[in-house]
Amino acid sequence: MIPLATPNISGNEGRYLEECVRTNYVSSVGPFVDRLEGMVAASTGARYAVATSSGTAGLHLALISAGVERDDLVMVPSFTFIASANAVAHCGATPWLIDIAPDSWTLDPAQVAEALERDTCREGGRLLHVATGRRVAAILPVYALGMPADMDGLRKLEGAYRLPLVADSAAAAGARYRSRNIGGLADLTVLSFNGNKTVTAGGGGMVIGNDPELLRHARHISTTARVGNDYDHDCIGYNYRMTNLQAAVGCAQMERLDEFVAAKRRIDARYRTELAALPGIAGFPAPAWGESACWFSGIVVDRQGHRPVAELAALLRDRGIEARTFWKPVHLQRPFAAAPRSRMDVCESLWQRILTLPCSTHLSDDDQARVIAAVKDVLR
Ligand SMILES: *Cc1c(COP(=O)(O)O)cnc(C)c1O
Repeated sequence: MIPLATPNISGNEGRYLEECVRTNYVSSVGPFVDRLEGMVAASTGARYAVATSSGTAGLHLALISAGVERDDLVMVPSFTFIASANAVAHCGATPWLIDIAPDSWTLDPAQVAEALERDTCREGGRLLHVATGRRVAAILPVYALGMPADMDGLRKLEGAYRLPLVADSAAAAGARYRSRNIGGLADLTVLSFNGNKTVTAGGGGMVIGNDPELLRHARHISTTARVGNDYDHDCIGYNYRMTNLQAAVGCAQMERLDEFVAAKRRIDARYRTELAALPGIAGFPAPAWGESACWFSGIVVDRQGHRPVAELAALLRDRGIEARTFWKPVHLQRPFAAAPRSRMDVCESLWQRILTLPCSTHLSDDDQARVIAAVKDVLR
């Protein structure tokens, strides 16, 4: 079976883990945690980085640090992994779900502007969503598949409406937006080191950004908001710190970030040339503003003339190839069915036509050729 995406653990992971055991630094204090924060800050161009136990935990900390409170609304694209919306709910807030742009699959600044214009009013310095009476507290763009959202457009809205931007960049390490690195595109940006991401720590996350106060607060509440060395705490905190064991794996992975992203892009480019030109088939979006980190690769299948993607995936499985459907939009998920939302034309017509294909960084040329031949075969 050629798997969809498995970790590539063939560098210094074992050596660094042994070092943790030998030195007794296995928990959330240790040199690898600091080193990983430094590596991620350097590679993303962010001034500060705070390591967390997961990407979801990082999103939760980032939203709190950006000022999101109970009963607020946070604008989130419906086309995302459910963790983006869960993190909003963990704050006691509710996602305000917005459709995506068809040419990027990311939050569309024009639609966000339209929703803000139409559905909000200012009251005593607060931006209120008229229908629910809730305060709108932040915008959370998602870098879907490793492609940054149109951040210049969203920045303008941030200025006009005074809404902080917290970017879910879970799988976008190595991406660029208009030649700019991802570390400074939003007020806070969150990465994930989950096992299915391009660089993994087994599990883990990172909050990055340039504002010392925001990052200081995120760090403070990630470790129970402790003041000094005794049992004194100045607000409600969390136990969200990454361990040195996770960070050891993360450091070994980050050493190979460029190599891994290059492999992901090579795999994506080959699917594009060999499959996206077939009738009724397209590649994943490639807007001019961004260089995607190409976390996942695959195809988009026209409904006319082709089988549903779930059927295609089953046929590929029979041929020894793991292929999968992709994110079911958040507004169609039970926990968020009642969340306020805009019209959802783009993501509703899209999500059941996406087929992700094997794209591990160590996928061999021969195995990719097998995948391509099998996809052509099942599309016939
Ligand atoms: C993976 C992912 C997350 C969650 O990260 P975890 O580390 O698994 O908690 C959030 N958002 C997106 C878009 C993701 O792909």
